[in-house]
Amino acid sequence: MLEENEDAIAGALHADLAKPAQEVVLGETALLFGEIRQARSRMERWARPRKVATPPVAQPGRSFIQPEPLGVALIIGAWNYPIQLVLAPLIPAIAAGNCAVLKPSEITPNASKVLAELVPKYLDREAFAVVEGAVPETTALLEQKWDHVFYTGGAAVGRIVMKAAAEHLTPVTLELGGKSPAIIDGDADLESAARRLAWGKALNAGQTCIAPDYVLVSKGQKAPLIEALRKQFRSMLGPDPLASDDYAAVVNEKHFERLTALLQQGRAVIGGQAETATRKIAPTVLTDVELDSDLMREEIFGPILPVIEVNDLDDAIEFVRRGDKPLSAYLFTRSSASEKKFLRDVACGNVCINDVMMFMSVPDLPFGGVGMSGMGQYHGQAGFDRFSHLKSVIRRGRFPEITIRFAPYNAFKTKLLKWFA
Ligand code: NAD
Repeated sequence: MLEENEDAIAGALHADLAKPAQEVVLGETALLFGEIRQARSRMERWARPRKVATPPVAQPGRSFIQPEPLGVALIIGAWNYPIQLVLAPLIPAIAAGNCAVLKPSEITPNASKVLAELVPKYLDREAFAVVEGAVPETTALLEQKWDHVFYTGGAAVGRIVMKAAAEHLTPVTLELGGKSPAIIDGDADLESAARRLAWGKALNAGQTCIAPDYVLVSKGQKAPLIEALRKQFRSMLGPDPLASDDYAAVVNEKHFERLTALLQQGRAVIGGQAETATRKIAPTVLTDVELDSDLMREEIFGPILPVIEVNDLDDAIEFVRRGDKPLSAYLFTRSSASEKKFLRDVACGNVCINDVMMFMSVPDLPFGGVGMSGMGQYHGQAGFDRFSHLKSVIRRGRFPEITIRFAPYNAFKTKLLKWFA
């Protein structure tokens, strides 16, 4: 489906988000092909019984875990990567033997339509369906009894999803968002950090759940970092980013207005331009931001990057720890001691050291949030296990029969039991 309909998919994403063709590959299809390739080559192994040790008390016996499909999953996607976020969970759902109903986001109607048209052509209609729609349709879907609900989107709707699932005691996966920090340590390679940060913030015009939300930069590094970011944005998108075909648009007017209001909550040292007709906002670096502003309290989810100076790494870590556990956190450093401290002290979903977002390209790294950034992980085997019940099995041999667990009980049997335990 992805191979034969590359143009239709890219066309829909361009219509919804002005997504550049290369970003369709980068952010949507490359990940899907990686997941598909891995699932096809490994799913037989993942599905096999997984042997575990059997202790003396249960001998003679063999113990193993037998993954079994959960049943029917409801997969609800968000609009920022509207194809990927619905199909990436579908891949492990299929590999693990489930049926699924997909509910793409109504905010990107062209991507939703292309999925609704294509999926029934390629997948068994008895087992897979796409339901298009907004709140009323999703509410009706959530009233049904599912075996798993896999939701990607914001925390407010995450609560609605979890409450609805609780009615049927249905397990949920919540892939949420939040403010993912990037920390620049005192010894960081600023050129490289700026290039990668600029890419992470410009991709899909910053509408990425794992985009670096804001930067904490160690004392003395702020001015050179800003100059390096200026150079990088210019080399990627030219002198007028609003005119660049390599730069996506903000998804709709509501988000455009929300973001242009945020532009006022700091001093724009790079960018700051916005164009209503195309819903494009130039990559913007803000300084002098108020820490209790919306900009610093809520996920930005757009091409605006506040840069805040802190004393050092300890200060930066303390700053991050004052907020919710982020979906992702990024550290740029040359020091292994700094890396160790960061990994120990920053609780979050996913980490890159000296880059942003690249854990997404490794199917063997489970992806997901923690605390307010979500629950449950997927990609690779984590996805397969997410859509499986790991059924525990012990197969007992009949001889010899160790009789100490049976009545009549006596002191000797109790002593032996304690010894075995
Ligand atoms: P959205 O508006 O597309 O909503 C997500 C889904 O929820 C849609 O399918 C929508 O139809 C449904 N929905 C909306 N309101 C509902 C309601 N009242 N009841 C039932 N269903 C409803 O997306 P969004 O919430 O704007 O998504 C943006 C958020 O998603 C950001 O916080 C971002 O960080 C997060 N996100 C997370 C990931 C991840 O993988 N962790 C990926 C992408 C986006």
